Amino acid sequence: MIPYGRQDINQDDIKAVLEVLKSDFLTQGPQVPMFERAVSDKVGAGYAVAVNSATSALHIACLALGLGAGDWLWTTPITFVASANCGLYCGAQVDFVDVDPKTYNMDPIALERKLIDAEREGRLPKIVVPVHLCGQPCDMIAIHALSKRYGFKIIEDASHAIGAKYKDEYVGNCRYSDITVFSFHPVKIITTAEGGMAVTNDVMLAERMVLLRSHGVTRDPKLMTHISDGPWYYQQIDLGFNYRMTELQAALGISQIQRLDSYVSRRQEIASRYDQALADLPVLISWQHPDGYSSRHLYVIRLVLDQIKLSHRQVFEALRERGVGVNLHYIPVHTQPYYQTMGFVVGDYPQAERYYAEAISLPMYVTLDVEKQTVVIQSLKNLLG
Ligand SMILES: *Cc1c(COP(=O)(O)O)cnc(C)c1O
Repeated sequence: MIPYGRQDINQDDIKAVLEVLKSDFLTQGPQVPMFERAVSDKVGAGYAVAVNSATSALHIACLALGLGAGDWLWTTPITFVASANCGLYCGAQVDFVDVDPKTYNMDPIALERKLIDAEREGRLPKIVVPVHLCGQPCDMIAIHALSKRYGFKIIEDASHAIGAKYKDEYVGNCRYSDITVFSFHPVKIITTAEGGMAVTNDVMLAERMVLLRSHGVTRDPKLMTHISDGPWYYQQIDLGFNYRMTELQAALGISQIQRLDSYVSRRQEIASRYDQALADLPVLISWQHPDGYSSRHLYVIRLVLDQIKLSHRQVFEALRERGVGVNLHYIPVHTQPYYQTMGFVVGDYPQAERYYAEAISLPMYVTLDVEKQTVVIQSLKNLLG
């Protein structure tokens, strides 16, 4: 089976991890701060906080921004559940904004409409989480302008989008947001096995997240509430977690990030070849906004079902039978059973639901060679041509 995504591990990666295994520190050593520097330098952010997953990064980002009971967090229904769950972890309520039918990202027009209603009803969100789906940056200028008008904070879920650019600058510079979060899961752009990072330009937010990732405990005298008892002393000044990244993971990340730009160009090449090869088939591909340069994490096609004899499910199953490991990103979060218990119903977000009825993610990863990509393309042509 040709998978929809997979990691690329080379000899440098293996060497970097082996060296850490033989070193003094497997955790809480020098590699994590070095990886944080490598990411913040690359994306142009002031501060970076490495953690054990993007899910953890979303959680501590929400807490650092003060999200709690009685607050609202809004995100898109077309995302992985973690973008919404982070709000629930903090005791806040979650709501969704429908997607743009051309980019599948949060629609700023739908956001504005919902904000107008929410202001009238006195339930404006404290945090909005735009997700750069497939690696294509959201319309951040529009979302940022709304944040100034309605007073909400922004966490960019850039789990798909390290190496992507918005207005010629890397996603993660936080010019239009408070915090940006990356994932280093093996299917993402670069990997640390499990791992994530939150970046920000706000030193207070960075300090808060550093505290929360490690039990709320500090050894920094200037953060302590009273003077130290001695050189062994540490203080717990908040309720945190163990969300730390290991030294092995950080060493892998440092090695991987050297190849970030070449990874993204390779993904762009694969996407262009799909674009050309599928042009005559009854499928839609996402419109790429000229302000963005996508990291091309996923390559999603939408079936034009009234021009195809097979159903969405039949096309999906036929591709899997032919060894093409297609996938579906994502099942709209509001239709998940857990979210249905909170009162969401099918019909709430028509664009998201329509997307779900038509979308298929094709294989997309840097080592997908021409031969394998041809198998994918040929299978589609045989089924839909
Ligand atoms: C993968 C992903 C996450 C979660 O990342 P982990 O590092 O696996 O916790 C969150 N949001 C989106 C959009 C993702 O794709």
